[in-house]
Order: sequence, then structure tokens, then C-alpha cells
Amino acid sequence: MLFAHDTECGLTVTAALVNTAGPDREGLPDVAALDDFFTAHSWTGRHEHTEAELRSVRDLRPRLRRIWHADPDEVVAIVNGLLRESNALPQLIRHDDQPYHLHAVPRDAPLAIRMAVEAAMALADLVRSGELSRLRICDHPDCDNVLVDLSKNRSRRFCDAGCGNRAAVSAYRARKAATRS
Ligand SMILES: [Zn+2]
Ligand SMILES: [Zn+2]
Repeated sequence: MLFAHDTECGLTVTAALVNTAGPDREGLPDVAALDDFFTAHSWTGRHEHTEAELRSVRDLRPRLRRIWHADPDEVVAIVNGLLRESNALPQLIRHDDQPYHLHAVPRDAPLAIRMAVEAAMALADLVRSGELSRLRICDHPDCDNVLVDLSKNRSRRFCDAGCGNRAAVSAYRARKAATRS
């Protein structure tokens, strides 16, 4: 593992959240979709199942996406802003079956706030390790999903949405077409 477990989880879930806002697709169209996201990413704690909660989670995404395009000083400004606005106070806690990890807001804080803080805490770790280059945009020409490269040799190029396969198929077809001509 490159980073602490909660850092890696925080980065992965943040990328997944950012990627629910596509240029021509809404991955969180309704409260049920947010419920699915909540469950799929093993969130626990307060969850209201309301339109207001959904709106605040959606509104967080552009700010988080910005981090993938920003220079280090701007990343720091965004991270510090998120921590300050959420009144983050890091505390080691243990819950469910998980070992001690950091929470910086109470478990009954609104979901969007906890998502913001989860992202900010994980990114703070990345900044401190000088590893911001692990935040990348998918290499597939038709995709602008964000990704976090947690591979040892920094070899990850594609997002989770099947772009690696799509690229392999196009490369195969191109090779075949080249042999034929
Ligand atoms: Zn926790
Ligand atoms: Zn992709």
C-alpha cells in the first residue's frame, strides 16, 4: 500500500464522485442513485435520502474536479478551504469493523460535508507526500473521467469505465487494418 488505507479509500471515492458528473450524463440523477453510491462506496453515518442532500452532494463535484486540473498551490487553497468551512477537527476513531482511522467531522454531519472532508484529508496526505501527479485524467480520447493512480509503477492510464478495454480493441483493429493494407 502506498498511502494509509483511509487515504486510498478517500481518493478513490472522491474520483468516483467527480466522475458521476459527466459532460453529457448525470450519474446522480435522483435520491435513489445517491443511495446506490452511498452503499457501493461503503459510506456509513448520517444519510437523509432527501433532494436537499442530493443537491449539496452534486454541488460539491465541480469543486473537487477542479483539484485534478489545478496546480499544487491551488490544490492547497481548495483543500484548506474545504477543511476550514467544515470546521474539521481530526480525531482517530474506530467503528464498525475498521481499525483506527481519521475522521475530521462528526458522523452525524451532513453527507456532503463528510464527503468534502474525506476528500480534503486524503488530498492533504497526497500533497504532503509530494504525490499530486497521481491525480490524472483518463487517457482515452473520448473520456474525461478523473482517476487516481495508486499503482506502484505509476502505470495507470485509464479510468474504471472500461476505457482500457476500449483502447485495446481500437489498437487491435488498427493493427489488423494495417496488416491488411
Ligand atoms: Zn470511518
Ligand atoms: Zn475513461
